[in-house]
Amino acid sequence: MKVGIMGGTFDPIHMGHLLAAEAVKDVYKLDEVWFMPSHLPPHKQAAGATGEQRLDMTKLATRGYEDYSTLDIEVARGGVSYTIDTIRLLLKEHPNTDFYFIIGADMVNYLPKWERIDELAQLITFIGVGRPGFDLHLDDLPEFLQERVLHAEMPLVDISSTAIRRRLGNGKSVRFMVPDSVLQFIKRSGLYESKPR
Ligand code: ATP
Ligand code: MG
Repeated sequence: MKVGIMGGTFDPIHMGHLLAAEAVKDVYKLDEVWFMPSHLPPHKQAAGATGEQRLDMTKLATRGYEDYSTLDIEVARGGVSYTIDTIRLLLKEHPNTDFYFIIGADMVNYLPKWERIDELAQLITFIGVGRPGFDLHLDDLPEFLQERVLHAEMPLVDISSTAIRRRLGNGKSVRFMVPDSVLQFIKRSGLYESKPR
């Protein structure tokens, strides 16, 4: 089985994430995509929503699509989420599955800095997608990574969670930028209403 892993903070999940996942799934003929909110990514500050809330929103967005699901392992484990630890766990549970880790162009340049990246790159394949404002330069990567990072075309989407949090803080609409179920969750829980820092 071929499974795409979409990692991130998802604070909140938005249409850019979902379109990236679907594009990669389509190009590389993946069977499923698993969304995996991280607890506390090494390169990021604490999120605006709690881990549970980010998990809830991701579950709402993937609910009802049989080829999409949400993994709670990183939020449940707590602490700093290192992808290498998570992937080792997943491979132990699913020894016959090929994992493809989906990353946006903004993350690709960071790859060499990921924890134990040399080991990680032996275990999974990365698939980079474009993102407005970020050039995808796969040939700038160190050689051992170049052959482990593939590319998938997608309809570029200029949406970020940061922009969504900012819009909500300013009382602007984010309808159609996030799934309706996620928007309802945000409104119901009053998330992101205070002015962004
Ligand atoms: P934030 O602004 O809080 O950083 P984000 O929109 O970048 O949020 P993340 O949760 O940080 O979302 O990203 C998870 C993954 O999705 C990353 O690999 C990121 O590059 C990718 N991604 C996010 N938004 C897009 C987009 N609009 N198009 C393509 N990839 C995206
Ligand atoms: Mg981001």
